[in-house]
Amino acid sequence: MIQDAGEIVRDAIVHAEICIVGGGPAGITLAMTLARAGHGVLLLESGDLGARDEAQDLNAGEVADESLHSPPDKYRQRCLGGATSIWGGRCVPFDPIDFKARPWIDHSGWPIGYDEVEPYYAGANALCEAGEFEYDARLAIQGGMRPLLRGFTPRHFDLNGIERFSCPTNFGRRYEAGLRAAGNVRVLLRATVTHLQSSRDGSRIESLHVRNVRDIGFSVTADQFVLAIGGIETPRLMLTSNDVQTNGIGNANDLVGRFYMCHIAGTIGSLQVNGGSDQVWHGYDVAPDGTYCRRRIALRPDVQSAMGLGNAVFRLHHPRIADPRHRTGPLSAIFLAQKFISYEYAKRLVSDVPPTPALWMRHGLNAVSDPISTVRFLGHWLRDRTLAERKFPSIIIRPRTNLFSLDFHAEQVPNPGSRITLGSAVDIFGNRQVRIDWHYTRQDVETVARSFDLLRDDIARQAIGNLSLAAGERDIEDVVRRDGAYGGHHIGTARMAASAASGVIDRDCKVFGINNLYVAGSAAFSTSSQANPTLTIVALALRLAHHLNSIVNRTSNVRVTEQSMVVSEL
Ligand SMILES: Cc1cc2nc3c(=O)[nH]c(=O)nc-3n(C[C@H](O)[C@H](O)[C@H](O)COP(=O)(O)OP(=O)(O)OC[C@H]3O[C@@H](n4cnc5c(N)ncnc54)[C@H](O)[C@@H]3O)c2cc1C
Repeated sequence: MIQDAGEIVRDAIVHAEICIVGGGPAGITLAMTLARAGHGVLLLESGDLGARDEAQDLNAGEVADESLHSPPDKYRQRCLGGATSIWGGRCVPFDPIDFKARPWIDHSGWPIGYDEVEPYYAGANALCEAGEFEYDARLAIQGGMRPLLRGFTPRHFDLNGIERFSCPTNFGRRYEAGLRAAGNVRVLLRATVTHLQSSRDGSRIESLHVRNVRDIGFSVTADQFVLAIGGIETPRLMLTSNDVQTNGIGNANDLVGRFYMCHIAGTIGSLQVNGGSDQVWHGYDVAPDGTYCRRRIALRPDVQSAMGLGNAVFRLHHPRIADPRHRTGPLSAIFLAQKFISYEYAKRLVSDVPPTPALWMRHGLNAVSDPISTVRFLGHWLRDRTLAERKFPSIIIRPRTNLFSLDFHAEQVPNPGSRITLGSAVDIFGNRQVRIDWHYTRQDVETVARSFDLLRDDIARQAIGNLSLAAGERDIEDVVRRDGAYGGHHIGTARMAASAASGVIDRDCKVFGINNLYVAGSAAFSTSSQANPTLTIVALALRLAHHLNSIVNRTSNVRVTEQSMVVSEL
């Protein structure tokens, strides 16, 4: 059932066998899987069915350097479904190398291997509605997918790995009916957890303090608790809960909130492909089940190892939209329509150049001098993106000139100095807001710079074309700073590790030293990979559900008590 927390009376005690905090993809996956296994589950979600300002305001906070990282109320959504209410749906599994201890990357190495996550990826793919778990271009579609660059067999990159796209599935909307119908799940909306109350000896969480939007407080007790509130809110809540352990929950070694990673990502270079437009296929192939699939240019693991680099991928991309020299009507139309694009998408598409009147004029000219392709593009976007249930994933435009740019998406290495702490301002419940102090490292810059050089050399060696850096890109660090922390990927702030000396949670996602508190979501990741996080978040949530199922006795149901009187029982 789904209920508004406003219906819970002041000072009530709600009890559940398993309490999950946060109704994003991690929390919803856990709730549905545990309920199916017969457990009584309480899911507490701070937001409503859709995003509302009063809940979004709880995401506010400060950023040490806003030129490098967006404000924390952007790229996050307080509603059932969490950030999947606005995500792009790109699904990619981690690579086996991501889990390994790599001597050239400090703090690398998960306490679990790829083989322990792999069994859950197929289920994650299904929940994300990204088709079957097949990420090899030769197998994903019968007869294989089209080649990216005809005749290109690079030395340092693999072209057979693909990304698959979710609808993109909004977990809140998609699974709302199932949650409503489940007899042993109670979802409380507009229920913000403000404090984790630990036992006096700090070994257990005894209860949660919860506030509804009318600031009426009640408590939740449970046998097991899971935090599934995203990579920024997880350290905030753990650090805020400092009445028993003065450093905060699970923070005896000052590791909560450290190692904060996003991805190093953006658009770089220009690639002039030799020959005609039939030499290139940078668009999507469609799997029999309708899933959009696309090849990537992935830095091979042996090259990462030999050259001491992080993991990285490139994609062929249209020329930079803001630069009118592309003379492409549809791209200029997107530039002109930027006011109608949400902050999260406009930031990367168009905002790297200040929009002067002269620039607007040049884009206007491009749009009117290329009317047929502009109108055709708008029709395609309306039909295949706006109105379609499975949406066309991104802007794919074939440049008339065979001139492309490259999208890169690279691992950010773990760095204890990149950090989330508590800021000075407080939210409406009196809790300190978050402070984000994100940093990249020299190694992050090197991963992008060296990978770009290797790709340029591979392309030149086989006379595929000419890859070069644009004028403002000679120093790759400038490119990294220009594009800043990739939004929406909040990783590593309660990292998994072999021991409490190097992380916050153990291989089962349990907080070190606390018997009944678990973390789900990308806060749990030890390293960031080249891959977008959500498929792995969902796979790890399925793995955690499996673990909880094995340790929890199915004894108690969800019940709500007011003082000692039972008000309702499921
Ligand atoms: C614009 C954008 C595009 C993206 N595109 C992609 C993509 O293509 N591929 C990909 O893999 N990932 C993508 N992502 C990232 C993806 O959305 C996240 O990885 C994913 O949503 C994280 O899931 P989660 O459940 O861990 O956290 P969230 O989705 O953040 O959900 C956490 C939930 O917890 C709730 N909550 C927070 N604090 C509390 C509290 N104190 N009490 C109760 N509830 C609380 C929140 O309201 C929220 O509903 C994108 C993100 C954005 C913003």
